[in-house]
Amino acid sequence: MTVTSDATGRYREVYGDEPTGLWAAPGRVNLIGEHTDYNEGFVLPFALPQRTVAAVGPAPAGEWTVSSTFADEPVSFGITEPGEVTGWASYPAGVVWALREAGFDVPGARIALSSEVPVGSGLSSSAALESAVLTALTDLGGLDLPLEKRPALAQRAENAYVGAPTGILDQSASMRCQPGRALFLDCRTYEVEQIPFDLAAAGLAMLVINSNAPHQHVDGEYGARRKSCEDAARILGVRALRDVTPDDLDAALARLDDDVMRRRVRHIVTEDQRVLDTVALLKAGRPREIGPLLTASHASMRDDFEITVAQVDVAVEAALSAGAYGARMTGGGFGGCVLALIDTDRAADTIKAVETAYAGHRFTAPTCWTVTAGPGATRI
Ligand code: ADP
Ligand code: MG
Repeated sequence: MTVTSDATGRYREVYGDEPTGLWAAPGRVNLIGEHTDYNEGFVLPFALPQRTVAAVGPAPAGEWTVSSTFADEPVSFGITEPGEVTGWASYPAGVVWALREAGFDVPGARIALSSEVPVGSGLSSSAALESAVLTALTDLGGLDLPLEKRPALAQRAENAYVGAPTGILDQSASMRCQPGRALFLDCRTYEVEQIPFDLAAAGLAMLVINSNAPHQHVDGEYGARRKSCEDAARILGVRALRDVTPDDLDAALARLDDDVMRRRVRHIVTEDQRVLDTVALLKAGRPREIGPLLTASHASMRDDFEITVAQVDVAVEAALSAGAYGARMTGGGFGGCVLALIDTDRAADTIKAVETAYAGHRFTAPTCWTVTAGPGATRI
């Protein structure tokens, strides 16, 4: 069974007829640029081959029903306000709400969802769901909503309706990424640039290692990091930490009393620069050379931003020992996935090395696979 036939099958089972069409949106990994989004800085995600598929058909105006292979019962709702639909259905209900709030006449719809994006692993199954639903409703309703304005609406659904304080990275990646490219996104202006990222042509592969570490305290820690960055920006008299350049860094750090806050600032400022350096190398056709930037990003997340856990640190070390050019945790932290840049023919050995290291630490076994940069949300 594929994710596509699963979505269609679920649609037939729940609604008793054929969907009008199928829409797919990918999960994403962030190549580099972690926690820089809400500091109005730079990120560089690419779309995963793993997707969420929405099979969608018509319903009377003002009526929506959503069903998912993840849930037993479909959920129906009309025109709602935040808080009225809860649980997983709050994601699609939030998309309907955000579109309507922006003035769009959202068509009624019946939706069946299936996904191959692992949930809660930092690969953004939530944005994949929002992006598939938003793209489907936009197409079906013939809404005049340009691609570049869509991520902010899906983000609003997640922030204001679902109640999760995320940045714009995930939805931008799921909707705006292109195959064989990484998406260089300026989180202040929302300007994007498509950056060449065809690793296979260079004999390289990107290994994704799902640490399978239990996520703990993620929301609280995220909020604490965000507050620390915002407080630091206020003390330094800048709109966001994006405005502190590497040249300004020492002077800025000297103005902060708190050692923890100093390290948070150092991570953001150096991480923004690493994104810019990575973009320059990829544009110059030197993808192998981004390895040390990835590894430096990991060290900065581990030592300065303090968002890694033992499982991801062990995966990074094991991949590097096995010959990876670079490796880092990707995503918000406290678990999730590690990326390792390797020669294509080293994939099996690198996976073995990580599995052996995990067994030695008695960690739950990791899940590993290689990925290429896939397409963004689209009708399929
Ligand atoms: P992630 O890192 O995967 O985005 P989140 O906690 O942000 O993790 O989002 C995961 C939540 O999104 C799930 O708990 C569920 O409520 C919802 N979700 C994601 N994919 C689906 C799906 N295919 N069907 C139903 N709900 C989904
Ligand atoms: Mg999410």
